Amino acid sequence: MATKTMIVRLQDVTKKKHKLFVQEQTEFAACVNDCVERLHNGEKLSSKNVNFNLKSAIKNEAIRRARKAISDFKKGKAKTLPIFRNSLGVKINNQNWNSIEKNGKWYIAFTSNLGKKSIPVVESEDVKMYFPFLLKENKENRGTMELFRKGRDWYIAIPIQVSSELEFKETMKDFVYYTPIGVDLGLRHLAVLSEPTSGKRQFFSGKEVGYKRRHFRSQRRSLGKKKAQRAIERVGKKESRWMKDYNRKLAKDIVDFALQFDSPLIKLEQLDDIRSTCRSLKRVDRTIHSWSFYQLKQFIKERAFKFNIPVVDINPYKTSQTCFYCKHADKGNRRKEIFKCKKCGYKNHADLNASNNIATSTSLAV
Ligand SMILES: [Zn+2]
Repeated sequence: MATKTMIVRLQDVTKKKHKLFVQEQTEFAACVNDCVERLHNGEKLSSKNVNFNLKSAIKNEAIRRARKAISDFKKGKAKTLPIFRNSLGVKINNQNWNSIEKNGKWYIAFTSNLGKKSIPVVESEDVKMYFPFLLKENKENRGTMELFRKGRDWYIAIPIQVSSELEFKETMKDFVYYTPIGVDLGLRHLAVLSEPTSGKRQFFSGKEVGYKRRHFRSQRRSLGKKKAQRAIERVGKKESRWMKDYNRKLAKDIVDFALQFDSPLIKLEQLDDIRSTCRSLKRVDRTIHSWSFYQLKQFIKERAFKFNIPVVDINPYKTSQTCFYCKHADKGNRRKEIFKCKKCGYKNHADLNASNNIATSTSLAV
């Protein structure tokens, strides 16, 4: 059995319902944040002593979410206690939602401050396939559902246990409702972020890291002449501590960039390509670099996890040689920092072009 998350869009969400859902979502995030603080202060919580305008089943979900945040924090999975934004999805446990069929049309019914109302859904292939298994009598098939919003549209995310025969090859179709953010990792720029629809972007220069690295290397080299093995190791440790701190800060900045968008989805390149990006370096530097990129990616994933932001690895095939505008791929399109398409003449910063390609790529790394 594998778990798959299906995303279903709600149909006909009236202005009135929209407003109420927004209120519910805002209340939920505020409630989780309040619970995190109170649990952290050692208070015992139940739906009875949590005073938010939510149904008690939803309050219990908020408490559960807050407990998880505290436990991640205690286990050291998160360095700080998270602050949840209003975009946090409202969790609804399996007792409080189910699918309904009326006159051949599918609805989702779930508990909220509206009461338990049924709302028609957009009938995707997933809905046709799985909704019959999620009816009221099939409680054991249902998990905790999540209600979330992207712009004016409302969605529900439903986890489903699928047997291997039914298992889909995970495709990008699950992610079409997210705002994709491309992250291009490299040396000249450690990271170039972009959200192509809005055109927002951010560059993180690699100068500081390059400088520091040369500094540590020359320190090691001068010690090498004196054969001071212990001192060399000390410098090595100092360097990796410095790099670790740097990567943590960088991961935070990258996730902060993503947080300005609704339902962000972070797309990273698979690691293999990063090694080839470093081909110009000496072997030992290449190892350090690919190890450091690996660490950075881990930190991005951990940080994103705190904010419920999904992170996917993208197949890096030709992302840096392909024209974002006309999709023509040619090695000659790229010359150092400049990308100029041989076919259509499109010109852009080479790393930004790559980052845009990563953001719009639908090819997941396997
Ligand atoms: Zn082109």
